[in-house]
Amino acid sequence: MENFCRFVLITLLFGSLSCRQEPPKSKAIDLTDMDKSYSPRTDFDNFANGGWKKKFPIPDEKSRFGSFDLLADTGEFQVKMLISEIATKKHNAGTVAQKIADFYNTGMDTVKIEKEGLSPVQPLFDQISAIQNTADVLKTVADLHTKGIYPMFSFYSAADQKNSEMEVAYILQGGLGMPDRDYYLKDDQRSKDIQAAYLVLLQKMFVLTGSNDATAKSDALIVYNMEKRIATASMTKLEQRDPQKVYHKMNLESIQKVSPEIDWTAHFQKIGLQNPGDFIVGQPDFIQELGKMVKEVSVNDWKIYLKWKVINSLSAYLPEDFVNANFEFFGKTLSGQMTQRPRWKRVQGATNGAMSEAIGQLYVEKYFPAEAKKRMLDLVGNLKTSLGERIKHLAWMSDATKAKAQEKLDAITVKVGYPDKWRDYSALEVSTNSYVANVLQSRNFDFKFMIGKVNKPVDKTQWLMPPQMVNAYYEPTANEIVFPAAILQPPFFYLNGDDAVNYGAIGVVIGHEMTHGFDDQGCQYDKVGNLSNWWTADDAKLFSERTKVLVNQFNNFNVLDTLKANGELCLGENIADLGGLNVAFDAMKKAATGNEKPIDGFTPNQRFFLAYAHLWAQNIRDKEIVRRTKEDVHSLGRLRVIGPLRNLPEFHKAFDVKEGDYMYLKEADRAVIW
Ligand SMILES: [Zn+2]
Repeated sequence: MENFCRFVLITLLFGSLSCRQEPPKSKAIDLTDMDKSYSPRTDFDNFANGGWKKKFPIPDEKSRFGSFDLLADTGEFQVKMLISEIATKKHNAGTVAQKIADFYNTGMDTVKIEKEGLSPVQPLFDQISAIQNTADVLKTVADLHTKGIYPMFSFYSAADQKNSEMEVAYILQGGLGMPDRDYYLKDDQRSKDIQAAYLVLLQKMFVLTGSNDATAKSDALIVYNMEKRIATASMTKLEQRDPQKVYHKMNLESIQKVSPEIDWTAHFQKIGLQNPGDFIVGQPDFIQELGKMVKEVSVNDWKIYLKWKVINSLSAYLPEDFVNANFEFFGKTLSGQMTQRPRWKRVQGATNGAMSEAIGQLYVEKYFPAEAKKRMLDLVGNLKTSLGERIKHLAWMSDATKAKAQEKLDAITVKVGYPDKWRDYSALEVSTNSYVANVLQSRNFDFKFMIGKVNKPVDKTQWLMPPQMVNAYYEPTANEIVFPAAILQPPFFYLNGDDAVNYGAIGVVIGHEMTHGFDDQGCQYDKVGNLSNWWTADDAKLFSERTKVLVNQFNNFNVLDTLKANGELCLGENIADLGGLNVAFDAMKKAATGNEKPIDGFTPNQRFFLAYAHLWAQNIRDKEIVRRTKEDVHSLGRLRVIGPLRNLPEFHKAFDVKEGDYMYLKEADRAVIW
């Protein structure tokens, strides 16, 4: 699993990039999703979602299952329909249909994959075996980067955070096998168990590639210790939340001074970027330490490390033994999955990843009604107006900062459904030769696409998420909110639903994404997306005090045994949830005609909060709770319901929640931000 952080800059609605299956139910508030044996005053999550949680236990192949994942399953099923139709037919060479069909069919041909064994990756192993010296090590690192395999550090291209019109190269910490530095550096029992299991994985993989047990064991330790050193030089997730701390503009000359042991000119030439110009280094200290490692670690150890990087990056596309070893650790040990996802889902995921916009175009034609876009744009317009009014009436903010906030709000770009301009896949080569070869071709195609953007104006029409993905995002450097077609379905969006449920569901999602422009990270970017301060010092201080209230609230939630939620890590998302609820509730009130009647015994206000809670109905395994608490900037589903609602007087009124109830916070204890 590559820990490639292209998405590091954007704020997702949800901490996974899944694609959805099976048709969603369309009843907006289904009473059987609720469990009325719970009181809304003490446990609104189980009151609203208790029935749902019983109906939808976690499938063995998953580590978490929520109503969000149910919709993701729907999307996955819809894409399956599209791909199955294409995969069973013959197509002219060079067409997108041929590429989709060959990619998918080659991935499903397990007989061929088993027969070929490691031969498709042998050229990469040979390349590593032929390494003689440090210069060869670095040359190989650069070459692997062009194939989407990232030893040593990560690389991508994106808008310059301080000149958002221009695309620049980013060099960031990376090079680990486990998902985060903390996995190597913590010494509690859970972490120790994971470290031991990771060593077993490393050893197993080396045996599978032909090493004897003793060599595999010592090689595993070599890799582990190298990665641990890399981890020690890495910033924590929390430190990286500060955009200023991960922005260091450099050029060839300055990075060469930071790490003289690495020939950066040669590196950039090898990856096809002859003149990198100015680029951004996320963590200069990390690059400095990497330079020292290049000098101090033996060439032989680097060769072992590089071999592991290749195996780890490609094991999912190799014979079953590799796939299983990979799953044993990344699926079972880290996330608590009981079984693998069926092969068709994994291969479909890879095909979808390789040609996301080509498949997205077909998806939109078949599944996205034009009316949905129109209704959505109306909703966004109403939400924008509401947030503007809330800003105007904020008691704690000065007029000067309010005016800037309003300007930023007015400047937000909205994208709904699908891109106006689709990506061209004609230069992508896909054949029936080998699954791994297709994966590498596709990654190289993506890498060249990315390199092609560096030092050019940002393409404002680009989407960082395909339409068939159930998610949404805010991109601070573009000051834009984006809603792919796939999220515009129940339980998020009801084309013919009443306002209460639509404002409570997709309305809050829209409000959530808008609020990201004003969360503790987003608020550091101005209206054109540059990292530049527009706050008066007093207002910034008041804002920070207010956000601390929310941090403390979440730090006090127990998520498992004595493990607490991470209020600092999830602050941006929690601000967005709270803001989204406030803005959407106001917008619903404004849109109300006064003739709205209760449905199934619930008033419009009650339906608003039930629809919101339903978005986060979720069952989750213990291991996944631990993993997400460490890695995910989003709070767990249950806390996304309980956490913000306890702060809202409108919620208290709707369900008669009183002082002393768990769902009630006294006015002095509430977080009031946007
Ligand atoms: Zn978010």
